[in-house]
Amino acid sequence: MRKQPLQPLLISSKGVSTNNNMDAPQTPAQEILLKGIAAAPGIAIGPVYLYSKKAPQVEIKAIADAEVESEIQRLRTANVRSEKELQKILNFAEQRLGSENAKIFEAQIMILNDAILMGTIEKRIAQELKNVEYIVSDEISKYKRLMLAASDEYMHERAHDVEDVMNRIIRNIHDQKLYSKLEGQSIIVSETLAPADTVIFSRNQILGYATDLGGTTSHAALLSRSLKIPAVVGLRTATKNLHTGDLIALDGYAGIIAINPTEETLAALHRKSQRFREFEEQLIDIAGLGAETLDHKHIELSSNIEYPEEIEFARLQGSAGIGLYRTESQLIGRSSYPTEDEQFETYKRVAEGISPQPVIFRTFDVGGDKLAPDGYHEDNPFLGWRGIRVSFDRPELFLEQLRAILRASVRRNVRIMFPMITRVSEVRKAKEFVKQAKADLHARGIPFDQKIKIGVMIEVPAAVVMAEEIAAEVDFFSIGSNDLIQYLLAVDRDNTSVAPLYQQFNPAVLRSIKMVVEAGHKRNHWVGICGEMAGDPIATVLLVGLGMDELSVVPIVLPEIKKIIRSIKYKDAKRIADKVLTLTTEDEIKEYLASVIKERLPDLPLEA
Ligand code: PEP
Ligand code: MG
Repeated sequence: MRKQPLQPLLISSKGVSTNNNMDAPQTPAQEILLKGIAAAPGIAIGPVYLYSKKAPQVEIKAIADAEVESEIQRLRTANVRSEKELQKILNFAEQRLGSENAKIFEAQIMILNDAILMGTIEKRIAQELKNVEYIVSDEISKYKRLMLAASDEYMHERAHDVEDVMNRIIRNIHDQKLYSKLEGQSIIVSETLAPADTVIFSRNQILGYATDLGGTTSHAALLSRSLKIPAVVGLRTATKNLHTGDLIALDGYAGIIAINPTEETLAALHRKSQRFREFEEQLIDIAGLGAETLDHKHIELSSNIEYPEEIEFARLQGSAGIGLYRTESQLIGRSSYPTEDEQFETYKRVAEGISPQPVIFRTFDVGGDKLAPDGYHEDNPFLGWRGIRVSFDRPELFLEQLRAILRASVRRNVRIMFPMITRVSEVRKAKEFVKQAKADLHARGIPFDQKIKIGVMIEVPAAVVMAEEIAAEVDFFSIGSNDLIQYLLAVDRDNTSVAPLYQQFNPAVLRSIKMVVEAGHKRNHWVGICGEMAGDPIATVLLVGLGMDELSVVPIVLPEIKKIIRSIKYKDAKRIADKVLTLTTEDEIKEYLASVIKERLPDLPLEA
């Protein structure tokens, strides 16, 4: 039977226990602190679930005639369990990602129910007198090899599904459940988490996520913030130091996990969590108030989201619209692009859901760390086939997406934005595509907003340098600080080894932001920022002072950012920004900005 998950915060007078046997003498294990990167705020204390995608080991064993029946029974039991697991995942994926995206799990269930395949496996067990896991692995691997040998990319992807099902059956034969262990409360520890894993895990009582790899802007981190699940990434050795069932304390504010936490650590974390909660309580009434400074300068405070389901929360948090809708989220868990009609349904849901407030749909930003096609490899993906470059190379898909966005624009609250713009010619080319998409719809007699606003992400240094010329081509800018920082400072946003060099307050970053705001404002364009920096409380006063018209943030931090905006005068923010621009190191800048906040909002918990 499955071991019951430990209760969070199982504290005995002899220290922290990692098992339920309170009679056995216990020596408190040494506390080990691992420092990573704070990826989503909150404190989580509870047992680890070590998530590994490693294929289970299979040995060949001879069996006796008398064991054939029981081997076959093991297969059948494992299949029933596997189907139950997959059915649960399927149900959740349907709710969270839509039925189209959930189809992959339906296909996996069909493999389990394939009577010919399972019949062959049972026959082979009886004829060859070998253990069930070996026959399962051998038989299903044959299919996988055949699929991999095909030149069709679709078949390659199906081969991975087949492999996944095979591993699931073998895991269940070994009684090692993968997903069902998540029924209790647990902190997921893994080498890395794909966005789809993050979503799928979130259906249960997940207390937190801790990963060896990843940075604050990896998409799994962004998603955990949206899902309000504390997370620490970039821990390097968490998976080596931990086992399923170990008790850990995860501090998503400071980016630390404590293995075998001492009572002092647990008490300190409780106090910290309490302080943050108290501050959060002060924010409850703020949702209905405007994001304006004490001297009445209004800032648009909007949300970054990836799923239509997030709109309700964004609205509750008092969002002034959607400043960034990452459309590539529709591709998670699928092997093909959604059709124009499918996309239209999604965009329409979002545009109607947020109406009359605006939504900015960013066209697919695939590549980089996001959704590279299976088996596709690049040595430098962030400098490779990504964002608008992929869209240009897939003109039909790009047009389908643009038509779908345009069709959703009838309420006139939709804007289009292009990612990874590096040169003026790309903006012109993208606009030609919009023109073509409009002409297509016109020919089909389908209505859309003729005057839809078109903008670009400014996230590549070349676009900063050319901001004035780019401004002449578009209606608005949104600064993608996540990428701008990585490209400007030559620091991979997901590489743990260089994480300390990824500095959002680096003076070069701040001067670039100033240049972009000035270039946009020269043409009376609206300039927003939608990178993670927009949601960092230490950055708020500075960004307001730099003249930003909009901050687009993960909905969870929205009230806190609004509180800060409401605590300053624009004229002071400008003075503070001017002073910041004279400073030459990130440390000085951060220290100065933190002191500015402390002075105005002493209760704001600002721990790094
Ligand atoms: C950015 O680069 O700042 C941004 C918002 O886009 P993404 O994080 O999706 O690359
Ligand atoms: Mg980006």
